[in-house]
Amino acid sequence: MPTYEYIADEGGCEYCSQGFEIRQNIRERALKECPKCGAAIRKVLSTCNHYSPSPSFSYDRAADAGFTAYERSPKGLKKIAGDGPADPSTSIEGLP
Ligand SMILES: [Zn+2]
Repeated sequence: MPTYEYIADEGGCEYCSQGFEIRQNIRERALKECPKCGAAIRKVLSTCNHYSPSPSFSYDRAADAGFTAYERSPKGLKKIAGDGPADPSTSIEGLP
């Protein structure tokens, strides 16, 4: 069963005001109200493990915007664009 995420439109209780996830059958209707407090809720597009950048995305543009892009490989992270450190795992301030 897929997991859906809901959040209160406004107000709500501790459970729904920050958003919550619930497993529902794909054929079930979307919830309209919080199961705990009855506040109006809406479905949030679920976060997804796989991020696919839009076609207009480019690492050069990301670097121009001040980001550093890394590619994950079995050996660790490899910098592919930007001004950030070559190996971010050894240069994050405050970490040993
Ligand atoms: Zn609630």
